[in-house]
Amino acid sequence: MTQTHSIAHIALDVPLPGPFDYLIPPACASVQVGQRVVVPFGRRRMAGIVVGLANSSEFAAEKLKPIEQIFDAEPLLPEELLSLLYFASQYYHYPLGETVMRALPGLLREAEPLPDQKLAWLALTDAGRAALTELPKRAVVKQKLFALLSHNQACSYDTLREQGSNAAAQVREWLQAGLLVAAEAPPTDYAASPIPSLNSEQQAAVSSVTGSLGQFKPWLLHGVTGSGKTEVYLNIVAEVLQRGGQALVLVPEINLTPQLEGRFRNRFPNHQLVTLHSNLAEGERLRNWQAAASGKADVVLGTRLSIFTPLPRLAIIIVDEEHDASFKQQEGLRYSARDIAAVRAQRRSVPLVLGSATPSLESWYNAQSSKYGLLQLQERAVRTATLPTIRRVDTRINEPSEGLTEPVIEALRKTVARGEQALVFLNRRGYAPVLYCGGCGWKAECHRCAATLVWHARNRRLRCHHCGHEERPPVSCPKCGNMDLHPLGEGTQRIEDVLQSRLPQARILRVDRDSTRNKGSFDSMLEQIHGREIDILVGTQMLAKGHDFPHVSLVVVLNADGALYSTDFRAGERLFALLMQVAGRAGRAELPGEVWIQTQFPDHPLYRALQQHDYTGYAAELLAQRQSAGFPPYEYQAVLRAEAHQVPQVEQFLQQAARLAQPLSGDVLVYDPVVSLMPRVANRHRWQLLIQSDSRQALQKMLFQWEPQLWKIAPRELRWNLDVDPLDV
Ligand code: ADP
Ligand code: ZN
Ligand code: ZN
Repeated sequence: MTQTHSIAHIALDVPLPGPFDYLIPPACASVQVGQRVVVPFGRRRMAGIVVGLANSSEFAAEKLKPIEQIFDAEPLLPEELLSLLYFASQYYHYPLGETVMRALPGLLREAEPLPDQKLAWLALTDAGRAALTELPKRAVVKQKLFALLSHNQACSYDTLREQGSNAAAQVREWLQAGLLVAAEAPPTDYAASPIPSLNSEQQAAVSSVTGSLGQFKPWLLHGVTGSGKTEVYLNIVAEVLQRGGQALVLVPEINLTPQLEGRFRNRFPNHQLVTLHSNLAEGERLRNWQAAASGKADVVLGTRLSIFTPLPRLAIIIVDEEHDASFKQQEGLRYSARDIAAVRAQRRSVPLVLGSATPSLESWYNAQSSKYGLLQLQERAVRTATLPTIRRVDTRINEPSEGLTEPVIEALRKTVARGEQALVFLNRRGYAPVLYCGGCGWKAECHRCAATLVWHARNRRLRCHHCGHEERPPVSCPKCGNMDLHPLGEGTQRIEDVLQSRLPQARILRVDRDSTRNKGSFDSMLEQIHGREIDILVGTQMLAKGHDFPHVSLVVVLNADGALYSTDFRAGERLFALLMQVAGRAGRAELPGEVWIQTQFPDHPLYRALQQHDYTGYAAELLAQRQSAGFPPYEYQAVLRAEAHQVPQVEQFLQQAARLAQPLSGDVLVYDPVVSLMPRVANRHRWQLLIQSDSRQALQKMLFQWEPQLWKIAPRELRWNLDVDPLDV
């Protein structure tokens, strides 16, 4: 067949609207849409994806350069995915090239042919075993490589490569010398776990969803933690696999949910399951992506980025913890993987299951208005497990000392004495959020941000949680010379110290981003907790998500009040979800659980609703507030954010943008530019401009005309972005 096109439209990873036109030279005449190619761009060579073919360009032919090379015989991206990415680029008003290229695993973005896939797994040959036994002691990397290879049936190339800077070269050398060979992946042993028979609510949920396979139908699965949602997903996926389909399961943060991965692997030992998330080594991510795209993998378990994976046999999309903010990307293409999942499910005619104990108000509203089918699990799946009792400790009556009240300390003491575990939850790491001068009221502030520095007692540093700046604490107050500087407020480190001194017998473990910085430390902490080597866990929201702690019977919540009167209209929704999740950690198995909340506002409706485990009532109340205030889900929003070193520059840009928006506005409300909630980060001043409409179409129509003009008026040093359906305004 002859190729008649002379021009290719190519998506490239550059921050310009694009796509870019290139000539198709005779050598590349077979080029197809979806293929990966190399093209010259400025002085660089870049990888790109062909997104269209044509016979003419709006640019003169002599200005166009030719495609250099086509990689891979088959198109990398099928039509379905290209059109989904095109939709995302249009809806979020972000350049197509960056949208397409960033959706690919990193190795596919490089202007290189695919790495040799035979290097996935390697094993020693007999010659290798013989030749490498007497390695010199000084050859550290060789020693490490040999130890790994000789103790395992096969090792992955990625693991080997990580053993040192010259490890990759060493492996290749041994391979060429015949000391290593490519091998099959070693079999993994999974304990087959007994499959519980479903209760009637679960059964109803599973049949509703499986009854809708083969057509687009969105479902909201609402059930408290422990009500058996995961079991419902597993049964739906079993049916999908039975019928030869592929399942895509999205989760908030995969490294925080090893148990979920284990349950899926256990249940389907004869099917290939791959994970996709940003913590995978590049080679592994590519291999998993290819397994999904080729249709070899049956189940893909991934974070938000996996929504853009080609899946030829896709039959169901499940989004677990659908309310979680991590489904929304906060940089680059600011997409919501949950919302893209809905678009993809619709286009592919497959059902979508959104699961949560505390659905986002957007999804709840859709279920209330019958746009989504509602599936409810009202009881905990394990009969003996009851919902935790929630108590509020009034801090106006019981004054806390260093963050903890006496009743709470007493409850912790009793829990530990009974040999049970307790979890103390507080969403602030470090020792204290403020270092304060008792003489003049001075506070240690970041010189680059509008924020106080957090005191980290372990390494005696003041640290900015916004820009990462670190400094030593001053010996005396820089303003008045007073030596009496003291920490104000509590972070996890301080609570850990206070508990250790009040309950010296208790074995306490702190779990936050500081204590789990090293690779693998979180996993070993989880092991300690499960092995009951720990009595009290002190931690941030890392602890709230997805873990089963069967021996935890008491959860203590500290310093949650801040969100009750926040200017962020979503703060209440978020706090409720977080506390429900934390509360879900108590009483999962045979132990009845209790949750104690220290608060100044025990009668706040949020805490009352929590005490009654009444998501439905609280959601109705929040929806009524949103409706009368004119907020989502009743209105659609977009925010234009800008930041620069000089305030006038940001302000002028946004004022000009607002003026340009006026004539386009129609049914869209354009607010005035305002300073952002965090007014300055890393020496950049931040402002924003909100636009809003009760019609998604009207908002999109306005953005289409407005966005191209923004590129023209933005000064070079200014950074700006447009966020459609923002989570923070
Ligand atoms: P969720 O995902 O809603 O938190 P899970 O599916 O993890 O709930 O279920 C909580 C616990 O109950 C798990 O240990 C699970 O194995 C168990 N479980 C779920 N469904 C049943 C059932 N029908 N019978 C017995 N145990 C069940
Ligand atoms: Zn002072
Ligand atoms: Zn800072």
